[in-house]
Amino acid sequence: MAITAPLLWFDGTLVESRMATIPLMGHAPQRGSLVFDVGSFHRARGGVALFRAREHVARFVRSARIVGLALPFDEDALVRAAVDVVAACKRDDGLVRWSVYFAANEPDLLPRDGTTHVAVAAQLLEDPPRMKPIRIAVFDDARKASPSALSPEAKVAAAYLGPMLARRRAVAAGADDVVLLDDDGNIAEAPIANVFAVTNGTLRTPPLGRVLPGITRDAVLALALAEGIPVREEPLTRDAFVTADEAFLTSTSLPIAPIGTIDGRALGTAEAPGPMTSRLAARLAAAQHGEDDAFAAWLTPVAR
Ligand code: PMP
Repeated sequence: MAITAPLLWFDGTLVESRMATIPLMGHAPQRGSLVFDVGSFHRARGGVALFRAREHVARFVRSARIVGLALPFDEDALVRAAVDVVAACKRDDGLVRWSVYFAANEPDLLPRDGTTHVAVAAQLLEDPPRMKPIRIAVFDDARKASPSALSPEAKVAAAYLGPMLARRRAVAAGADDVVLLDDDGNIAEAPIANVFAVTNGTLRTPPLGRVLPGITRDAVLALALAEGIPVREEPLTRDAFVTADEAFLTSTSLPIAPIGTIDGRALGTAEAPGPMTSRLAARLAAAQHGEDDAFAAWLTPVAR
């Protein structure tokens, strides 16, 4: 669970978070058109730094463009806004969430007024992520929206409803989370995380085009390359997933969650996290905390 910091950035100024509300008849709640992105910040090099903020902002801008939301701030301003809210929250680690939505108090399917509001908030995690193995369920009929129905690149609120219902079903079946299939019945992604499998020392993940271009996914691929681990971005069959030696989820808030069981069956490695999962998680943590010079460019320092 995450708590919003007391101050957030709203259309260019810091305001009290509890004052930032959305109109009930607005397009965001009535149609789910709010676009967002979530990054993270960490203790690093004696201070605090945002992790891959420029990539999160670039994806935020792309999502807004897909949904047709005008962004009246450029990418530099959106990174600076994140630096400002993180500096104001006086914490060493947490999440930062960019949002853009139609301002008008009207739910017409095609809004007449295209004016938008932009907010950037720091969110503080109540329990820090742990490497606790999770139980995954996979259902034949729990699938990602087809890319022809909605681009998987758009981080828009409405895209999360189907995945939310699928997770609820997984939890009711005794699992922690669900992995959704794509149109062809191959592994796509979890509701808010990408999926990796390890087979015979090779790291495998479904290709882009049907899944969100996760920034942690991208970081893990770059770190694997640096570690000399063979990597394959190619369709991952359900069979290859359930028979993998190791598997894990990646997302900004996890950032790596080892998978212990899939549909009640343990993976090839007796104990999750397996060795490759642990190795990549350690390298990612080092990069996030400024302890890996090769990836220092991923950090944006926050002056306090
Ligand atoms: N897939 C989906 C659908 C997501 O919402 C997220 C979370 N942003 C991810 C994957 C993981 O992306 P990231 O590593 O950038 O957090």
